[in-house]
Amino acid sequence: MIAVRLNAAPAGPATERDALAPHPRACLECGAPHASPIAEAEFCSNRCRMAFNNRRAKRGAELYDLFMALRHDRAVATAFKVWRLLNRLAAGFRAEDVAERAGRRSWRSPAAILARRPHLADERVRVRRGR
Ligand SMILES: [Zn+2]
Repeated sequence: MIAVRLNAAPAGPATERDALAPHPRACLECGAPHASPIAEAEFCSNRCRMAFNNRRAKRGAELYDLFMALRHDRAVATAFKVWRLLNRLAAGFRAEDVAERAGRRSWRSPAAILARRPHLADERVRVRRGR
């Protein structure tokens, strides 16, 4: 087994060229180390990026509907035990991740979401138009 330290701080560049070299990161989909020159690159390839995002889109549609019912139609959500359904879906997704992805997470961290959408941390709700 080869241990690779990903996202670890380098010991210190020997040259300016080393300082500018990309640091290895793990692909969010396949877990393989990659060293894209793009600082925020999360994937080793377009294939991995599409697989990651397609799975999230496929899984997310039902989560969206159930969460919106939970948040905005409480009586129906309570009658159908929507919180329980959401947890069952999440448990099933995690079981798939363990079986098919060697346990790698299939979701981005909340910090990554906030980095892309900092307005979510605002106290006031914003209405997004034209998307
Ligand atoms: Zn990959």
